[in-house]
Amino acid sequence: MLSTMQDEPLSLATLLRYGTTFHSTAEVVTWTGAGSRTINFGELGSQSARLANALRRLGVGESDRVGTFMWNNAEHMTAYGAVPAMGAVLHTLNIRLFPAQLVFVANHAEDKVVIVDGTLVPLFAKYLPELTTVRHVLVANGDPASLEAPAGVEVHSYEEVLAAESDEYDWPVIDERAAAAMCYTSGTTGDPKGVAYSHRSMWLHSMQVCTTNGMNLSGADRTLAIVPMFHAMSWGLPHAALMVGASLVMPDRFLQPEPIAQILAAEKPTFAAAVPTIWQGLLHHLDEHPQDISHLREVVVGGSAAPPSLMHAFEERYGVKVLHAWGMTETSPLGSVARPPAGLESEQAWAYRYTQGRFPASVQARIVDEVEGVQPNDGEAVGEVEVRGPWITASYYSPDGAQIDPSKFDDGWLRTGDVGKITPDGYLTLVDRSKDIIKSGGEWISSVDLENAVMSHKGVAEAAVIGVPDDKWDERPLVVAVIEEGSVTPEQLREFLDEKVAHWQLPERWAIVSEVPKTSVGKFDKKRIRELYGNGELDIVTFD
Ligand code: ADP
Repeated sequence: MLSTMQDEPLSLATLLRYGTTFHSTAEVVTWTGAGSRTINFGELGSQSARLANALRRLGVGESDRVGTFMWNNAEHMTAYGAVPAMGAVLHTLNIRLFPAQLVFVANHAEDKVVIVDGTLVPLFAKYLPELTTVRHVLVANGDPASLEAPAGVEVHSYEEVLAAESDEYDWPVIDERAAAAMCYTSGTTGDPKGVAYSHRSMWLHSMQVCTTNGMNLSGADRTLAIVPMFHAMSWGLPHAALMVGASLVMPDRFLQPEPIAQILAAEKPTFAAAVPTIWQGLLHHLDEHPQDISHLREVVVGGSAAPPSLMHAFEERYGVKVLHAWGMTETSPLGSVARPPAGLESEQAWAYRYTQGRFPASVQARIVDEVEGVQPNDGEAVGEVEVRGPWITASYYSPDGAQIDPSKFDDGWLRTGDVGKITPDGYLTLVDRSKDIIKSGGEWISSVDLENAVMSHKGVAEAAVIGVPDDKWDERPLVVAVIEEGSVTPEQLREFLDEKVAHWQLPERWAIVSEVPKTSVGKFDKKRIRELYGNGELDIVTFD
């Protein structure tokens, strides 16, 4: 029997219309370095209509790709609103990709128009001559004359083009399965791979962000979205904000600890999201320049493991709850969120909060052992984490239908490349990424556990651990750490660690550096650290 329910598509056009009318007073605040500029959601609706009209005039039709090469700001949010809602596909370009990769993804996605921030024009200018499908570039917050157009490409002023358009747009009815936005993985191995989110997946994912077990986003929030809009759709915050009328505070290009602290002081957000390295940097800044940040009801940390010491520091020193979450570009990205079960005492609750979190109803997960197959969710069995669900990708985008990296899919499940275990009550604990686990004398060492242990020392600002070849044990851990000057020596750190990890796991090799290399989305770049090690570019202290 079929239901009697209406078959109304879940469409981002409906979401945009809803958010910008019923929540017209919510705000998009953009930091300018010395203050902020603000539009409300009503104005966001008008600007989105103008942008959609302009894009249509430039020839953008259904399913055409519109790239963005932008910071988190009001103009980027306007593209988030307009492009999917007009039936085109928003492609957020990662401004920090290596040049060859950036050119690859824009050509692979066949971007027709790209919107570029004025401050990023010098960088974009290097790529533009190689972008084979781009016909129009809109320069926002800058001078279009500063960008030289190759033959066949027209460069326009975003502001002028929008000013010439009507602030109304007849948003179409869209098939909920159609692509709304695309994001490429940052391609730590091989070419970046494209994921195309649907209207349906983004709608459902937005609802998950807003659930109380998710990020609990509501109309009462002011959300500081530090996670870039080119990194897995800023973890779904922009569209979730439209769904509940949460205001957005956008840091633009001001992503260092000091301006983030200024934004916190001026805008008093209630919620914020970023990768651990950002929070680690902010923590050290705050410890030197204390300020009240108790207006933050919660902050989400994900993208790589949140060190427990970081979570405790924010809660105990600043009264801010750090929420640990796991996900990936392929999972929209929200997979799991670490809210403990009700009624637990502090220590027990913390044990749950350290995990990568509990899966929601829409995300099924299982542990698979390479040899023995699917394992029980008993909190003991360790293997690769596989997931499936309505906002998990079923393949990688391919312009010609050829399958890209089918080894990442297993009978309808996405293979995450993460190794972990799942408890009977659905909490995921990651041991490591499969490629980062250190195999020492037949035993596994989790690089994440070692990093967490090293970073729990107050004198350590950052620490990453990689496995390096070893004649006796095949592989042994190397610690690459940033320490506060004069605070601690590698020898003392080793003694400190001896109380925290099994003696045989104690790293013999240490490199003290001024900064740990980061990836294009701000995670520790272990590939780069391996290269530095391989080239003999690290100054290493060795213990017997
Ligand atoms: P990239 O692969 O470039 O890092 P993603 O942001 O898609 O891009 O990365 C997803 C991966 O990040 C996951 O597969 C996992 O390895 C790691 N990750 C994400 N969240 C967490 C977390 N809370 N703890 C540990 N690892 C995490």
